[in-house]
Amino acid sequence: MTNVQRRILILYTGGTIGMIRKDDNAYHPFSFENLVSFIPELNDFPFDLKADSFDEPLDSSNMSPGHWLRIARRIEKDYSNFDAFLILHGSDTMAYSSSALSFMLNNLAKPVIFTGSQLPVGIPRSDARENILTSLEIAAATNEEGGPMVPEVAVYFEYNLYRGNRLQKVSSQDFEAFRSPNYPLLAEAGVQIKYNRQSIRSASIGRFEVLPNLENRIAILNCFPGMSPELCLPLINNPENRALILRTFGSGNAPTHDWLLEALSELIQNGVPVINVSQCSAGEVEMAKYDAGRRYQEIGLLGAGDMLLEAALTKTMHLLGSGLGGDDFAEAFRSDLRGELSD
Ligand code: ASP
Repeated sequence: MTNVQRRILILYTGGTIGMIRKDDNAYHPFSFENLVSFIPELNDFPFDLKADSFDEPLDSSNMSPGHWLRIARRIEKDYSNFDAFLILHGSDTMAYSSSALSFMLNNLAKPVIFTGSQLPVGIPRSDARENILTSLEIAAATNEEGGPMVPEVAVYFEYNLYRGNRLQKVSSQDFEAFRSPNYPLLAEAGVQIKYNRQSIRSASIGRFEVLPNLENRIAILNCFPGMSPELCLPLINNPENRALILRTFGSGNAPTHDWLLEALSELIQNGVPVINVSQCSAGEVEMAKYDAGRRYQEIGLLGAGDMLLEAALTKTMHLLGSGLGGDDFAEAFRSDLRGELSD
């Protein structure tokens, strides 16, 4: 069910969706007006649409916590004036941005839908048109009580609606570029849009606010067979580290090298959280399962459960930015805050 009067703010941040190819065969940012000229149906929608744009649209490879804050503040500025928000964003780091926004937008009660495309909007086979038009339908959709159908941060891409902190980009070629390995789709779009209502979060009832502070002094260390102390120890021992994410194997196992266990143990004793995120996206971290995981549990690594890297990283940025440390950080990290973690 949609209401003809729904007011939706579209924020164009950049990405392939709004870029044009020039002679140098590179992508160049262009304006939102051009987007409308390629999708004239935007003018025919029975919604009240308003568009805004980053002054300098970005390839999303250049997104940073500062840009996430700009998106959050733009939503905050007009939170009471619109029923929903559509964020046009490059697909490369969309899962990081949607995940970060899910933590930064506290007590959200309105849809914030991210979308983008694999091909620029001006190309005949572009997926941009469908992604934008269906995202708007979803942003405008209401339930029986007239409230928003999807009052959370979500991503729509190629007929699927994903929770914003449960997806990962998995393909640079396919139109179906994302996956949500550990959480069901929020909706699937065919002839009709089918909402998976038991998987959608309820609208928050508290006062909406932006939680602006994010800590980005976080290192990520990927485990691999043959990893060397000469190259890894300087990263672990860097005094700037405020948290370290160890990308482990399988259910949270890592090489049991003494140098690695000792360096991480010392880091943890110095009050720096070390988080265990598996390189396998599907499934969860269970450190007690094998000795190669249990050794890391014993020195105090925090398992990320079934959180994806994007969610674990942005949640860590958010919790450290909010001033949490020690046991408070650990407790909050292990709690499900925005639907990013299964019980
Ligand atoms: N490099 C582009 C970006 O993320 C790719 C895309 O939009 O799909 O901004």
